[in-house]
Amino acid sequence: MTFQDVARLDHQALAANLDTRLAGLDLAGRLSLVAGLGRAVFTTSLGIEDQVITAAIGTHRLPIEISTLETGRLFRETVDLIAETEARYDLEIIRFYPTKDDVDAFVETYGINGFYDSVEARHACCRVRKLVLLAQALSGAEIWITGLRRGQSGNRATTPFAEFDAERNLIKINPLADWDIDRINAHVASEHIPINPMHARGYPSIGCEPCTRAIKPGEPERAGRWWWENDEKRECGLHVSESHASDAQASEDPAARSSVIQRASAIR
Ligand code: SF4
Repeated sequence: MTFQDVARLDHQALAANLDTRLAGLDLAGRLSLVAGLGRAVFTTSLGIEDQVITAAIGTHRLPIEISTLETGRLFRETVDLIAETEARYDLEIIRFYPTKDDVDAFVETYGINGFYDSVEARHACCRVRKLVLLAQALSGAEIWITGLRRGQSGNRATTPFAEFDAERNLIKINPLADWDIDRINAHVASEHIPINPMHARGYPSIGCEPCTRAIKPGEPERAGRWWWENDEKRECGLHVSESHASDAQASEDPAARSSVIQRASAIR
């Protein structure tokens, strides 16, 4: 067994422990617990779930970095919401942008909207405009917080509160995993949390403008994402295991990793 194997087992055990403990806490308690484990980064797409998490971080002044992937193809409403949220909660949402060289290379190979032509081209665009930026946002992070919920799609039905992301070598936390959309909507209303006005126009899940449409009554929440593809498990790669290990620039410093385990052990 190698040191990497030992580290992997330690992190899997930590994730399992966290998964149990997080289940018994409210949202602020969940975020407070993981914020104390190490450098924590929350990546927001400004979706309604993410706004709930940002509001909790801002309201309770939690030491969690907030980042967003500014793909260059977002809806105007989403871009406006970034600034509105920063002002409302007096915090910074760090923007990560694709490089001109990467975008130019994609356009030269596939065309500016080539993602409609094949799954390969779509993945290439998501890689340049999202995955590379995610790796930058998570570089050096020990904890990655997301707004994933079990009710968002069948693909996310078993989302845990905590899991070890072996690809990125960090602990991934999904503090809203057990919230349904009714609870999200009620919380947003009671806390007056700013949200994207497009949600009220039939867009429960909002990504890049050319790849998002409104859904029809009865359709799953994420049916409007990459709707022209047949694969019901379609995702952009942010929340599925990818083979782009070279892109995953998250810190692999063994000392940093073991420090997370030590801090977690201290507060058990
Ligand atoms: S969602 Fe569409 S526009 Fe955005 S990165 Fe993916 S393929 Fe490109």
